[in-house]
Amino acid sequence: MVHFVGAGSGAPDLITVRGARLLGEADTVIYAGSLVNPALLEYTKPGCEIHDSAKLTLEQVLELIRAAERAGKTTVRLHTGDCSIYGAVREQFDALDALGIDYDVCPGVSSFCGAAAALRTEYTLPEVSQTVIITRAAGRTGVPERQSVAALASHGATMVLFLSAGMTEKLREELLSGGCKPETPAAIVYKATWPGEERIFRCTVDTLPETARENGIDRTALIIVGDCMGEQYARSKLYDPRFSTGYRAAEKP
Ligand code: SAH
Repeated sequence: MVHFVGAGSGAPDLITVRGARLLGEADTVIYAGSLVNPALLEYTKPGCEIHDSAKLTLEQVLELIRAAERAGKTTVRLHTGDCSIYGAVREQFDALDALGIDYDVCPGVSSFCGAAAALRTEYTLPEVSQTVIITRAAGRTGVPERQSVAALASHGATMVLFLSAGMTEKLREELLSGGCKPETPAAIVYKATWPGEERIFRCTVDTLPETARENGIDRTALIIVGDCMGEQYARSKLYDPRFSTGYRAAEKP
């Protein structure tokens, strides 16, 4: 049996209770060493076999899983944040299906949630943004043309950019060409939720490249763009005394 587990965004106590239990029971752990906080490995039991997938190909990861299966062992495949976001899990699921190996998935706190917490921001503000776009700038891995940063920027939604901290010049260019104003609030969050390592830089779309450059940030960071980090927004209807909800009557005027 293989459990794909989302490790959370960095702080070791941000893994789910289930994820921590699965880690504690695993005979073999294959973790994404480039991003998963190694402190998470302290949840493993003595004698657990541990592999860093940063040094492995998909084929080598599958071989480790097959060997564990042959020996009747349980494997945890530990991915950073939540597996569903840039986790390269689909190719593993399909390969395991083809091999007849059983697996399940335990969700995790994605770094885009960790970054919102670090920034103390709400991505969805009434009358400002009711949409969050999770995307990336095109790099060595391409992005379908209709999903380019410029095309997505035209919506004025909150944007969370993964895997793009090393491309902030290009990012600014695309955001501006998509209709983003230069003064639109932006933030760079480095190692969100990692104890003692998290760093937050608030800036604007215009100052994104210099902010990244001056602070030496080119990886392990998210870039957040949007007026949700500005001053203007409307109050929620849900908690407005003048509105009735399924749970509460409106107050008399
Ligand atoms: N599955 C992960 C994302 C993996 S892609 C998740 O749900 O968060 C790797 C990218 O995620 C990094 O390049 C960086 O952009 C972002 N990332 C991962 N952990 C991060 C963290 N703690 N703080 C900021 N960005 C992070």
